[in-house]
Order: sequence, then structure tokens, then C-alpha cells
Amino acid sequence: MQRLYPSLEAQTCPEPEQRLASEHACELQAPLLRCQVPGSESSVRSLSSLALLPAFASIREQLRALASYAPADSFSPGLAEHLFGPALRTSITALEQFAACPFKFFVHFGLRAEERKFFEADAREQGSFQHKILAQFHEELQQEDKRWRDLTPQEARARVGRIARQVADEFREGLFGASDQNQFAARSLAAALEDFIETIIGWMQDYSFDPRSVELAFGGGHDALPAWEIDLGNGHGLAIRGKIDRVDLAVNPERDEALCTVIDYKSGAKKIDLLLLEQGIQLQLPAYLAALRHVADPRPVFGVRRLDPAGVFYVSLRGSYQPGASRSDVLNGASEARRLAYRHAGRLRFDALGQFDRKAPAGNSGQFNYALTNEGKPNRRFADLLEADEFNALLDRVESLLGQMGRRIFTGDAKVDPYRKGAEVACDFCDSRAICRIDRWTHQFRVLKRNPTATKKT
Ligand code: SF4
Repeated sequence: MQRLYPSLEAQTCPEPEQRLASEHACELQAPLLRCQVPGSESSVRSLSSLALLPAFASIREQLRALASYAPADSFSPGLAEHLFGPALRTSITALEQFAACPFKFFVHFGLRAEERKFFEADAREQGSFQHKILAQFHEELQQEDKRWRDLTPQEARARVGRIARQVADEFREGLFGASDQNQFAARSLAAALEDFIETIIGWMQDYSFDPRSVELAFGGGHDALPAWEIDLGNGHGLAIRGKIDRVDLAVNPERDEALCTVIDYKSGAKKIDLLLLEQGIQLQLPAYLAALRHVADPRPVFGVRRLDPAGVFYVSLRGSYQPGASRSDVLNGASEARRLAYRHAGRLRFDALGQFDRKAPAGNSGQFNYALTNEGKPNRRFADLLEADEFNALLDRVESLLGQMGRRIFTGDAKVDPYRKGAEVACDFCDSRAICRIDRWTHQFRVLKRNPTATKKT
């Protein structure tokens, strides 16, 4: 105790009942501190009197300085260039975070603060586990010179089950064997993937696209594709890197080109949210397709001279099941419910509909969420099917948003400015509260509003 509080003087109490008894030194701190507070006799009158202790002098000074602390809204453009360099190497996820709250971006990608990592099968690890199984599934087929559609749904199911058992044993030094709970999670994730692959392969008879690349990284030092570079003017630029879960192609050998679709795997149901997209908060899916349309020479990776962007989709890897009206309703409709659970949500080009769904226009395979009018045009009650010019405008809009955000980053924008959309706020998905010191009860959140200049229908 004297090492902690050098001014303490050892005392001996003659009466046994006045002696301090403890099993650990920390139990003595409170009674001893009471004796140290100037002006107190034997008891502490208030917490503020404790703060007067000489031992706390330096802490008092630091707290006094912090009392008036508030993060600045911006830093100088010179410092921004010093932090990021002339070309900011970044990812779409990072730019989405800037759109959600510039200060959050600054903390993570300017200061490079990171969350503490735990050895647990959290949502991120569960996602990585499923991604790894599907990547191995694809690689095995490539080695056997087979396409996904060359398997029957049952063969694909059995293959995924086998790979899942292998991956579970090796994944992250045995993470999924570390507890009964983790083992159960691995079995559940594998079972969902078996359902997923059986459903996907079943759809392939009506789907003209073939999975060509999985976990396709671009922009890294050893990646097959270069970074997507966006010129921001004033000598600045973005060099965007990323990893695309799956790229499907429908190749036209005569024209030496391919319709191109990007698939993003999700753990739950996810749809394109127009408001979040317009504000740059949910850009990743169309941004990846926009990146692919800028690849100067796609032949080494995709085997064709040109890629023609045609679709972007979120697909749930765990199935997004809807509740049934009754138990018998659920049991009787299990097969159809499973197909709907893996239905693709996103955007697809109307002029390529025949390649997405060979049953169209007379029928619908169920893989995509669209309908046609009696005149054979996209039914506007379903947002996923777009005319070609609307689809291209969506990709143009995404590029323009990325450029705008890049320019703001280079002005030094680091404002604590989280968005609100209904009950959802940016801080719900952020671990930097201790740094920005936001009080969500009193903060005026930036309420997202539709941008009237954005494309009407994307
Ligand atoms: S907690 Fe909220 S305000 Fe603070 S950095 Fe994160 S998103 Fe921004």
C-alpha cells in the first residue's frame, strides 16, 4: 500500500477490534484512503473529498483537460493527405462507414483503432466458415473440370456436407470444436448450406449463368485483379480493393463477352434499401459490379474480352424463412418455403431476363423476385427488375457517390455525424462510442431523406 500511496504512515492499533482485517490488499484501500483525505477525521464525507488526495493530482489535471474535450468536425486537408497519401487505399465497407458517420471512418481508417478480438464463434466467424465451405466446393469442381450445374441437387448437398465436416475440424485452430455450443453452431450452419446448395443447383436448369469466381479479391498486392482507381481531381484518388463473394457469367462465345452478375452472401435476409443506397451507406453490392465493368482486361480471370453488367443479388446462406399461418401450413409447404428462403434479392436487367430465368416471360422459376405486366414489361410493384438504362444509372450513381465521399475525406471531414433512419442509428453498429463520447439521448442525429436529384428508380 505504501508503494501506491507513499505518504501513508504505518500505524498500529492497540485494540484488536480497531485493527483492519483483510485477505487482499485492495480491501484496505478504502479505509486507508479515508485517513488520507485532508480535513477528514476518520470517514469519507463525499466522493469529491477523495479527489483531493495528493495521489490523484495528475489524474485531476487530465480529467480537467478532458472535461472540455469534443472531437473536432474536421482536420486540415494537409493532414488528410499526410494520413491517407495522394491515393487513398480503401474498401467499399470503409466508405460506407464514412457515409454512416465520418468520425467512425476517421477512428477506424485514419487512427486505425480496432476492436479487441475474441476466440469465439461470433457472426463474423460463422460467416467466414460458410464462405470457406462454398469456396472449397467451387475449387473442387474446378479441379474436376466440372460446373456447378453438372451436379444433381442431391450430389451437391452431399458434397457440401462432406466439405463442411472437413472445414469444421480445421477452421481457426479448432474454433468449431472448442465447445458443445460451437459444435452445434457448425452443424446448424452446415445444414443450412446443404439446403442452400440443393436449392441453388435445382434452379440452375432455368439459370443460364455459371459461377465463375468465388472469393474474388481485387486491389491487393497478389490479387488477380487490380484496385479500382477513381480520380478525385487535385492530385487525389481512391484505390478501392475488396473481395467479391461470387461472380456468375453467362458467356456469349460469338461476341467474346459475358453478362456478369455479382452475388453477395449474407447471414440473414437483406434487400437493397434505396434510402441507404442513395446516401452511400449501402453501396457494396452495386459498387462491386461497377468495379468489374472497369476491369480493362477481364480475359485472364474471366476468359472473355468484355464483361456486361447484368445483375446484383444478396443471397441468405442461412435461409430467410417466413412464418406460416399454422403448423400444418408450415409442414405442408416446407419445400416451397425452402426455395423462397434462398430467393435472390437485388437488381437485374430486364433485357437479360431470359438469361436469368428461362421460364420467363410465361412463368417464373422463383429464383428472382419480379413479375411482368400483361404487356410483358417489368411490374413496378417489384423493385428488382429494371430497364437497362435504369440499371446502368444505378451503377453510375454509385460511382458518383464514391467520388463525392472521396473528395470529402480529402477535405479532412471527420465530423461526429451519425445517421438516423427510423429507429435505426449509425451508432447501433459502432464500437467507437467511448471515443466520440456521443450521448444518443441528446444528440441531433442526421435524419436520412430521399435525394430528389438521385435516379428515380434504382
Ligand atoms: S458511436 Fe455513433 S457517433 Fe460515435 S463514431 Fe460511432 S457512429 Fe459515430
